[in-house]
Amino acid sequence: MLLLPANVEQEIREHGAKDYPHECCGAMLGAETSAGREVRALYPLVNRRDDSPRNRFSITPEDFRAAERAATQRGFDLLGWYHSHPDHPARPSEFDREHAWPWYSYVIVSVEAGVPRDLTSWRLEDDRSKFQPEEVLPVRAASQTTQD
Ligand SMILES: [Zn+2]
Repeated sequence: MLLLPANVEQEIREHGAKDYPHECCGAMLGAETSAGREVRALYPLVNRRDDSPRNRFSITPEDFRAAERAATQRGFDLLGWYHSHPDHPARPSEFDREHAWPWYSYVIVSVEAGVPRDLTSWRLEDDRSKFQPEEVLPVRAASQTTQD
């Protein structure tokens, strides 16, 4: 279960629209709570692949360390990664699976003709054979708890 505050979801969508027709990518920072995995902040990354920025995103070891550092500095955990699929469905590609790690949440937003559409989240199985969908639960604001 991924708890996604409305403002954070909006930020992911806007990043996807801004980088269209290229893929955007970034890290998701937050905390594991009793209610689920709650994203509290994003750490946008630059898509460094210049061979095929339209349909490939990659996270370099430097990106990884910088995202972990940003999480630690803010008292958060590194929970996962988000990226966009320009003019493609919000489903992980084979490339995504090959380059993913278990445990992390992978949020994908499809961006059709510049307009953000579906947003999904996925977790890679421990044997890395396939992704399983992860439920995304919208929550109201970044630091609020489940009280409604
Ligand atoms: Zn992808």
